[in-house]
Amino acid sequence: MEQPATVKRPKLVVGIVVDQMRWDYLYRYYERYGRGGFKRLMHDGYSCQQTMVNYLPTYTAPGHTCVYTGSVPSIHGIAGNDWINNQTGKKWYCTEDTAVWLAGDEKREPSMSPANMLVTTVTDELRMATNFRSRVYGVALKDRGAILPAGHTANAAYWYNEKTGNFVTSTYYAKEFQNPEWLSAFNKRNVVDSLTRQDWELMYDIKSYAQSTKDATPYEGAFKGEAEPVFPHKISTMPKADRLSIIKSLPAGNTLTMDMARACIEGAAGGKLGSGKDVDFLCLSLSSTDYIGHRFAPNSIEVEDAYLRLDREIASFLEYLDRTVGEGNYLMFLTADHAGAHNPQFLKDHGVPAGIWADMTRELNGYLSERYASDSPLVRSIMNYQVFLNEGVLAGDKTIRELVKTSARDWLANVMPAIYHVPVSYVLDMEDMGKQAVPELIKSMAVNGYNRNRSGGLQVVLDPGWFESEHQTGTTHGSWNPYDAHIPLLWYGWHIPKGETHTVVNMTDIAPTMAALLHIQMPSGCIGKPITDLIK
Ligand code: ZN
Ligand code: ZN
Repeated sequence: MEQPATVKRPKLVVGIVVDQMRWDYLYRYYERYGRGGFKRLMHDGYSCQQTMVNYLPTYTAPGHTCVYTGSVPSIHGIAGNDWINNQTGKKWYCTEDTAVWLAGDEKREPSMSPANMLVTTVTDELRMATNFRSRVYGVALKDRGAILPAGHTANAAYWYNEKTGNFVTSTYYAKEFQNPEWLSAFNKRNVVDSLTRQDWELMYDIKSYAQSTKDATPYEGAFKGEAEPVFPHKISTMPKADRLSIIKSLPAGNTLTMDMARACIEGAAGGKLGSGKDVDFLCLSLSSTDYIGHRFAPNSIEVEDAYLRLDREIASFLEYLDRTVGEGNYLMFLTADHAGAHNPQFLKDHGVPAGIWADMTRELNGYLSERYASDSPLVRSIMNYQVFLNEGVLAGDKTIRELVKTSARDWLANVMPAIYHVPVSYVLDMEDMGKQAVPELIKSMAVNGYNRNRSGGLQVVLDPGWFESEHQTGTTHGSWNPYDAHIPLLWYGWHIPKGETHTVVNMTDIAPTMAALLHIQMPSGCIGKPITDLIK
């Protein structure tokens, strides 16, 4: 057998996470995708058709972390977008870091870093495998979409600041505390301003959007200043401050992100990404699909148009990579951090059981305070579908704590459904999982998601179709159900065979597969397995 003189690796890896992309969008809009976007990845690459998120809650920060670590919240510690620290009672944002500030910020206000993530990413492992010669960058509108994938040892992560319209980074990465010149030059181009001086008009005749409900429905939320959520969305006449923020919820937000990705590839310290001796890694996350999904829900013309436009963005990005890195020299995967539900009212109007759960922390605390004659609230919060007990107050007496937990569980499982008509499938006691009659899938997702320092001790599982929300319009995600957990996973490029599998693959399998393809160590908290069918 031939013995290669060097370890064979691609020149560049591009990981794309499409925020809130349901797997079925590959087929729902298939007929109107072009040849060079999703279809190129699907048919010239390898599709893992049954890729599932394997923990709770199905949110953005745990999703991005899982994709790049092959690990789950129980181990990697990113237990939600936000969580409460059970020891201190403090609420934390996933990438919050009081020890760093925005590069160039003279006020030195606290900013973001990956410090809360307790394990390595596959990108960290790549950096270490090549003695830090490989370069790793993260780019996204959302800070968590850029920071967590790029890992602890990243050269930099860049995210969008809606107050200024600029891409920013923190002093965690910017060793000289300043932005690199290419980033300042990109920000000076004012891409956001030019992109939002156009209205969001449909790409095609409105009558041709056959996969969506009509334009004006009660399931959609209007933009600030709009009378109705209908096309054309008149962005151009909005005040500048609003346009800087609304771009996140427009297809133009993806255009901006892709522009920034190209600028990052070109500007990276040490020469263009993919031009060096060692493989470089770009972690790209497209956040706008999530904002659009939340506002309009999957059956809207807005979501359909957003994916048809995204398809074109992907096609042009692939062409760009062909030109700059060369076809066959780059390896790409495309997946999602979670999927998303239908709007509950839309489902109900079609006879499907569904509904909305409002925050019940106050009601639960009222019940518990009365029952236990307590002056202080016994529950800190219901968050991430979990009940965070007030450990500060309950710490002194284990027996009382156990009684309070049992009462809270009973209220949520029996009283709340009776009084507030919210159907609850299970309330799981995460500190005692042995005895409960719960389907194995839900149980393992809950256990994988339970981090004892950062998760609530009770896990609420609502009936299918139900979710927690403050709005009647739009949608969200967070549950175990397939509509939240079934995500696309497409592999394309360097050494990837054409094909597909319907064998169930877990989200935790992505990072070990990447590690196998690159011949590097698996990340430190990895529990997944390589998808051997696509490693030829
Ligand atoms: Zn997300
Ligand atoms: Zn979301």
